[in-house]
Amino acid sequence: MSVQSATEQPQLVNRMFETAEQPDVNGQNGARRSILIFAPHFDDEAIACGGAIARHTAKGDRVVVVFMSRGDSGSTVPGHEMDPKTSERTLKAEAEKAGQVLGIVRQVYLDLDDGFMGWTPDLLREFVRLINRYRPSIVYAPHADESHSDHRVAHQLVSDAVPRSGWGAFPTLADRAWAVEEVRYYEMWTPIQRPNLYLDITAYVETKLAAIRQYASQLVMVPYDDGILGLNRFRGATTARYQYAEAYVQWAVITR
Ligand SMILES: [Zn+2]
Repeated sequence: MSVQSATEQPQLVNRMFETAEQPDVNGQNGARRSILIFAPHFDDEAIACGGAIARHTAKGDRVVVVFMSRGDSGSTVPGHEMDPKTSERTLKAEAEKAGQVLGIVRQVYLDLDDGFMGWTPDLLREFVRLINRYRPSIVYAPHADESHSDHRVAHQLVSDAVPRSGWGAFPTLADRAWAVEEVRYYEMWTPIQRPNLYLDITAYVETKLAAIRQYASQLVMVPYDDGILGLNRFRGATTARYQYAEAYVQWAVITR
C-alpha cells in the first residue's frame, strides 16, 4: 500500500476480495447505497460491470448510469447497416431494456459525439454536478489504460471530478458538495494489468449476459458476450476462489 499526499492520486488498498457472502465494508449495516456508473458508450455498463450492477441492485442499492455518447456511431456491417440517427434510437432503446434487466433506476444521457470525446472544463463541471446530484458511495469508471480514447477521457474526467465534488471550494458547485468513498475502475477493451479488487459475480453472470444480449445491434459486430465471459472466467479462475469475477482497480478516496 502506498500513501499518496495528493488526494487526486489513486490510493491502493489491500482489500483484494469482496464476496457476495461478505457485505461491502461500507455497506455492512445494510444501508442502501447510491451507486454511479460512468459509461462512455451504450453497453459498456453491462459488459464491463454488469455483474457488479446486478450485485448492487440485488442488495437494494440505487444504481444510476451516465451514458456519455449519444450512440451515433452507426453501423456498416452488411445486413445490419444503420445511419447515426437510427443507431442513436436503437442504442437508447436497447440500453433501457438492459437497464431493466440489471435493475438500474435511472439513465442519464450526455449526448456527446461517439468516438470524439475530449476533456473540457465544462464536462468536468458536469461530472462534478452529477456526483453532487446523485451522491454516490461508489463510482464506477474505465481504468486508465483502456485502448479506446473515449474511455481514457471518461477515466480522467471521473478521476478529476471525484475530489472536486467533495471540496465544496467552488462557489457555483459547493451547495451540494459530496465526498465519494470509493472509485472502482473497470476493464472493457483492455484488461487491467494489476487489479486490486475482485468481485464474485458467479451468482449474477446469467443476469449480466441477459443484459448484454439486449444490445443486439452491437453483438452483430462484436461477440461481446463471449468475450467478457472469457475474461470474467479468467478473473475468477486466477483468484482460485470464484467461478466468475470482475476485476477492478479500486481507489479508496481518503479526505483529511
Ligand atoms: Zn465503450
